[in-house]
Amino acid sequence: MVSQTVELLKNEIPLEQESVVLAEDAVNGLVLVDIINGFCTVGAGNLAPRESNTQISGMISESARLARVFCEKNLPVMAFLDSHHPNKPEDPYPPHCIVGSDESNLVPALRWLENEPNVTIRRKDCFDGYLGSIQEDGSNVFVDWVKKNKITTQLVVGVCTDICVLDFVCSTMSAKNRGFLEPLENVVVYSRACATFNVPLEVARNTKGALAHPQSLCIM
Ligand SMILES: [Zn+2]
Repeated sequence: MVSQTVELLKNEIPLEQESVVLAEDAVNGLVLVDIINGFCTVGAGNLAPRESNTQISGMISESARLARVFCEKNLPVMAFLDSHHPNKPEDPYPPHCIVGSDESNLVPALRWLENEPNVTIRRKDCFDGYLGSIQEDGSNVFVDWVKKNKITTQLVVGVCTDICVLDFVCSTMSAKNRGFLEPLENVVVYSRACATFNVPLEVARNTKGALAHPQSLCIM
């Protein structure tokens, strides 16, 4: 389905695809974006999938595989967890991932990361993990993580591809280009370990106020 979509897009916009092969020792940081129950576990909350979904389950298993490789090599991993205060809603979304609820915890396949010494967990209350890393004293947990671990190439995976992953990567690229993130040079989004939600056109047409969001079109 994705390759069919890519072929259609190639006829409409200047889109080029090529594979990127990364040397194993070139990547020295892994960022996991919002791989939490509230977005990934069936029936876990207002923004959780309503039925099992192969793109999401594939994203979880591929992310867990990568996390295991990084932990075995004692390489730095950063996990963003969407976590909202009950009195601070996140428009335009319904209440989700409230602090202290299981919605805002890592999915079962990744929960073991909480006990790994090389993993930094950052709870954030906005889409963008870069902005969500700013602390009250003005310091930035993500920037400090990059600098302390001397990360030059980081891999980014998680959900949603076109919201929290995209926002985080755009902010990171801008900050990098402005010189705030040295020594970071490369930001790589691994699409097979990313996923987003699905509202097909036919469902949106029959649901008042809903906007279509076809999952297969929204992968980077
Ligand atoms: Zn949120």
